Amino acid sequence: MSNAVSPDATLAERLARAITLGGPISVAQFIATANTAYYASRDPLGAEGDFITAPEISQMFGELIGLWLADLWLRWAESLIDPPPKLPAYLELGPGRGTLAQDALRAMKRFDLAPVVHFVETSPSLRKAQIAAVPGAKFYDSYKDVPTNTPLLVVANEFFDALPVHQVVKGDDGWHQRLVGCQDTLFLPIAGKRVPDDVIPTDLRAAPLGSIIETSPLSVIYVEALAARIRAQGGAMLMIDYGYAGPAVGDTLQAVRAHGYANPFDAVGQQDITCHVDFATLAAAGARAGLRASTLVGQGAWLEALGIGPRAEALVSASPDRAPEVHAAHQRLTAPDQMGMLFKVLALTSPDWPEPVGFAT
Ligand code: SAH
Repeated sequence: MSNAVSPDATLAERLARAITLGGPISVAQFIATANTAYYASRDPLGAEGDFITAPEISQMFGELIGLWLADLWLRWAESLIDPPPKLPAYLELGPGRGTLAQDALRAMKRFDLAPVVHFVETSPSLRKAQIAAVPGAKFYDSYKDVPTNTPLLVVANEFFDALPVHQVVKGDDGWHQRLVGCQDTLFLPIAGKRVPDDVIPTDLRAAPLGSIIETSPLSVIYVEALAARIRAQGGAMLMIDYGYAGPAVGDTLQAVRAHGYANPFDAVGQQDITCHVDFATLAAAGARAGLRASTLVGQGAWLEALGIGPRAEALVSASPDRAPEVHAAHQRLTAPDQMGMLFKVLALTSPDWPEPVGFAT
């Protein structure tokens, strides 16, 4: 590598130089650097992109989320005698192309619910798509700037899986930070400093050599901050993602490119890096802030409980030629061997709000 970094150096060259000068970086810093560049430079969604998400598969997904929100809101509003509730804000984290919001808002409107729309989104190119889908939406860079004076209806689909995670790896002499080093512009994971055993969950400490544990402090910060707002302002937060009830042992770091899996340390900034979401840790963060956490259910069971079957049939009756497409989308979103089990749904609700539908008690 040359001594100077030219202005048109690639992200890989600049990152390699930073690591050569400053030393290895955490897995979380690596993910944050790679994903910020990735999302800023393209629209990753859809057949032409790298991956497809539930709202891009079918309008039914966003519509059912809109109905879920409207149902919760209306039951709460009905329970108030006086004064009538303030209009809530719809707040979506990482809205992609804005498709979910568009479908959910259309469904809510049928119940005369037309919330003000707020998006937390860092990617300039996706912001453009979002404002085209939902004219009038307001944008924020992070959870810090969201509205403080109205109930919040928060939605996050495949948002938390894009946030950075730290990893620790079990070595001969205990647990170590997992870091990212480089040889020229080839990035690779290496073991860093030893971490004290007491930061490792007790029941995981004896895991076998080479085991990896992940933690996402930024995800917890997001949930804690938004949950505190919901506790003070009223509302609910719905999170959908692929994930598990952790903390648990497992390396879920992966990259997706052109609809296939790729090495997450390759092609920095040119592929989507994700990790599975530890929903139990997020539920606990919400509960600490005073919210009620739902059970964790599979996306398939949740969508069936909300009536995706009848919704699909209604779409087919309205346009019979769409039957194959609608049935395929229904399957893809709910079948256990497709998105139905791997993707999970968690709701956090204000303690004085009604029970949300779709969750087994
Ligand atoms: N929810 C959408 C898109 C999922 S992709 C869907 O279901 O189709 C992840 C989204 O989160 C993108 O919009 C991406 O730009 C955004 N994002 C990723 N990291 C972010 C961060 N740190 N802050 C805000 N938005 C982020």
